[in-house]
Amino acid sequence: MSAKPIHWVVHMNHRNRAVSWLFAVAIFSVYFLEHGQAWTMWVAMGLQFLVYPHVVYWRARRATNPLLAEIQNMLLDSFCFGVWSALLGFPLWIMGLLVLCGCMNLAAFRGTVGIVQALVAAIGGAALVWALGAQAPFAPDTSLTVSLMSLLSLAIYLAMFGRSTHRRTVVLNDTRVKLRQSEQALQAQLEAVQSLQGKLTEQANRDPLTGLYNRRYLNDTLQREFDRCARDAAPVSVLLVDLDHFKQINDRFGHRMGDEVLCRVSELLLQRLRTSDLCCRYGGEEFLIFLPDVDVEVALERAEQWRQLIEAQHWEVDGQVFGVTLSIGVASHPTARTAPATLIELADQALYRAKTDGRNRICVASSDGDALEVNDGGQDLSAEMALRLRSSAS
Ligand code: GH3
Ligand code: MG
Ligand code: MG
Repeated sequence: MSAKPIHWVVHMNHRNRAVSWLFAVAIFSVYFLEHGQAWTMWVAMGLQFLVYPHVVYWRARRATNPLLAEIQNMLLDSFCFGVWSALLGFPLWIMGLLVLCGCMNLAAFRGTVGIVQALVAAIGGAALVWALGAQAPFAPDTSLTVSLMSLLSLAIYLAMFGRSTHRRTVVLNDTRVKLRQSEQALQAQLEAVQSLQGKLTEQANRDPLTGLYNRRYLNDTLQREFDRCARDAAPVSVLLVDLDHFKQINDRFGHRMGDEVLCRVSELLLQRLRTSDLCCRYGGEEFLIFLPDVDVEVALERAEQWRQLIEAQHWEVDGQVFGVTLSIGVASHPTARTAPATLIELADQALYRAKTDGRNRICVASSDGDALEVNDGGQDLSAEMALRLRSSAS
């Protein structure tokens, strides 16, 4: 089992008492010799300045709250200093040295309150001696030797105190700088993680080939969008867009060209998209366009614009020009108070009708679920036909 770490205040005070109180022993010894003190005073002085530091250290080390125990120790120090001052008849230099050091120690931890507490404790100690009638006659004067020794001790103590305060300030500043640096590093890491998280979410929601939203994003979003429109009783429309004879493009010009067509068609679909609209890659060569706040008439107009836009494009591979056409199934609801899946299903039925009616056209799902052809579209330019037409045109 590892030993409990010693609180730095407990450690520092123990060292200070053990070392600096040796000066007190020297001063007291000279003073006692000058005044011929009884042996009991010598014993008491030994106990106070040589044994006591280790006893209070031992107590503070074992305390559950070492800092509190150490502050109590410092109060006890001041109390003892009061006792000694009264026992010796308040010799000014010795009393000044002891009480000042007691006040400074507590001030370092408790500020002005600490000074007051130290003074009260010292007065309490002196009062106890007076109450017991053990005080020496009032004798503030000390010999020059004792005065000088006290002054020197006070100077050394002050210098040590200042030095350790400076060291702690330096350490504190270093810690503060390091803390700020690690805070900045942490912030940078957090931003990197957030941006990565954003990218990952974006990637998870996007189709890698076309960059359009994928079906997963659509599933997450569509119900929310329907709910929003339903609250305002606004219409919604769904367009299912499928490339005609796309398999033949793949077969004839290769998968790479097929991919290119898919990307270009995606760009063209996006060109005519409003910011509130949503276009996603629904399947291989199928796209779903969700139009909020758009009724069936407007939806059909816009579907027709897309159909014409794609039909007007020319693709070229090795001098062979070909065209691509779309079939579109449209389904609308006047108040959006329906399930997204229901409207998609209707749009799918309309798309199926557009395919069976000859492709390159738009069909709309009627309210009774039947799909109606709404335009006669263009010709069904099967890939073979389209190729032939375009080649001869060029
Ligand atoms: P229809 O007019 O009836 O829609 O005929 P179609 O050929 O377009 O439809 P079909 O479902 O028979 O074929 C779709 C093809 O789309 C088959 C598949 O290989 C191709 N496809 C699906 N995803 C991709 C893709 O990411 N890249 C490429 N190049 N082709 C794809
Ligand atoms: Mg198709
Ligand atoms: Mg398809």
